[in-house]
Amino acid sequence: MTTEEITTKPSTTSDFIRTAIREDLASGRYTYVRTRFPPEPNGYLHIGHAKAMAIDFGIAEEFGGTCNLRFDDTNPVKEEQEYVDAIIEDVQWLGFRWGKLCYASDYFETLYEYAIKLIKKGKAYVCDLSPEQIREYRGTLTEPGRESPWRNRSVEENLDLFQRMRAGEFPEGSRTLRAKIDMASPNLVMRDPVMYRILYAEHHRTGKQWCIYPLYDFAHGQSDSIEGITHSLCSLEYEIHRPLYEWFIRELEIFPSRQIEFARLNLTYTVLSKRKLLQLVEGGYVRGWDDPRLPTLRGLRRRGYTPTAIRHFCASIGVAKADSVVDIAMLEHSLRDELNKTAPRVMAVLRPLKVVIENYPPGKVEWLEALNNPEDPSAGVRQVPFSRELYIEQEDFMEQPHPKFYRLSPGREVRLRYAYFLKCEEVVKDADGNITLLHCTYDPTTRGGNAPDGRKVKATIHWVSAEHALPCEVRLYDHLFTVPNPDNLPEGRSFLDVINPNSLQVLQAYAEPSVRGAPVGKHYQFERLGYFVVDPDSSAQRLVFNRAVSLKDEWARIQQRAGGN
Ligand code: ATP
Ligand code: MG
Repeated sequence: MTTEEITTKPSTTSDFIRTAIREDLASGRYTYVRTRFPPEPNGYLHIGHAKAMAIDFGIAEEFGGTCNLRFDDTNPVKEEQEYVDAIIEDVQWLGFRWGKLCYASDYFETLYEYAIKLIKKGKAYVCDLSPEQIREYRGTLTEPGRESPWRNRSVEENLDLFQRMRAGEFPEGSRTLRAKIDMASPNLVMRDPVMYRILYAEHHRTGKQWCIYPLYDFAHGQSDSIEGITHSLCSLEYEIHRPLYEWFIRELEIFPSRQIEFARLNLTYTVLSKRKLLQLVEGGYVRGWDDPRLPTLRGLRRRGYTPTAIRHFCASIGVAKADSVVDIAMLEHSLRDELNKTAPRVMAVLRPLKVVIENYPPGKVEWLEALNNPEDPSAGVRQVPFSRELYIEQEDFMEQPHPKFYRLSPGREVRLRYAYFLKCEEVVKDADGNITLLHCTYDPTTRGGNAPDGRKVKATIHWVSAEHALPCEVRLYDHLFTVPNPDNLPEGRSFLDVINPNSLQVLQAYAEPSVRGAPVGKHYQFERLGYFVVDPDSSAQRLVFNRAVSLKDEWARIQQRAGGN
């Protein structure tokens, strides 16, 4: 599916953010709605960012406004053009359309002028304390901070020093510009926060033009104002920054954007922080930023997630004020739900066991009709070749079946999907006792799957004609972590200590010939096995499939247990 096909219906949802916006429009506080999505280009976007985007872009659209895509690129040390490009691609892939594409770095000159204005008002000063001293002077939650000895410099001296900071006269880290607020404030953020620091680093957009850089708190809210953002929606950790956000707006007398916070998305069995994801990639725990086990948008895409499924998931988790952890089964459910409707069914055998049908004529091939998607009659039918030698799933045979095993076993009959009844006559083993081959017979009167004499079988299994089978690689994934809360472990244990050593399993499988030539990104349901997608590692010679999600709906089960439906 291409992103162009996505339509966002105006939602009728109501949550505390939408309620606040309605009130702001009704009271005349704002006459329009404009939001922004403000990623820092220091990593790849993950599913948590998708939640933020669903809120930022979704709300703007619902209220007839626009949402800017703004790169919060004020830290040259960690930011790169590579990330900017990747983020743009991911936002487009999800199908979000921005009003303006902006960069906080475009505002460096304006921010500098804002700083001058605060200095002139006596609301900002150049401080010579080192970063360590600043931390020490800040105090703690229970103790007030101490005022910097440089706090009461004259406006003239501050102006002179700040200009010389910009001109590159002082070494890195030797001075900062700080807001003059209140060293006794119960909110540590308000204790004379640093606005500018000296940093001799090359910026990915402004190059060596600047050697002083604004900190987040003196860039974010100001960028919001410059762009006329009405509602600056962000995650909960910025709540304690809100008084400072409002202080700058008041003192600078600039457009009064409003910050509203919502809960971050946390998911079980994964981590959602660029810093931790970077450790996984750099530590070689995964194969790259687009590893299908990662919750990055690139990883999810490669895994087989679609924009629709991700957006549906974001809509279904809603917007809350309190942090919580969402079961990853809910994300999987969104994808399964979509692919059930859209993915063509085919047969593939992941762990092949050879079957020879002794009473089937050698050389004969029948092309049997199979439904492409029982959920969608318009998907039509295809022909699947049937012949004397087949592969079935090793798991579908047991030499000594336990009482609840109804599939193939010696002397027992099962149905081959779309084909005939098959009976196992003899088991062939190698010297080590491994089963290598089954001699079977079929009943020619059961074509299509029913016996004219009315006799029943208890199981239907999938199969692939050996002669026609397409060898392919299949990658099965499990959670990257062995525990549901890798982000929240007891003291002394890190998420790197609970990595699942078996999160990737690579199998040499066989698929029916209809999948030949399938393009990268194409989805299938392998009957009875799950939903799969063609991986970019595929070549003309050999398809590689990722299992996107199995057929087992954990989420539905959880809902049922919880008494829902
Ligand atoms: P990380 O901690 O992963 O580095 P971040 O918050 O530093 O994330 P930014 O690039 O600053 O990442 O985030 C851009 C926007 O996405 C911010 O508004 C932030 O609040 C939001 N965001 C980031 N992670 C999540 C999450 N897990 N759930 C909801 N929103 C998020
Ligand atoms: Mg951040």
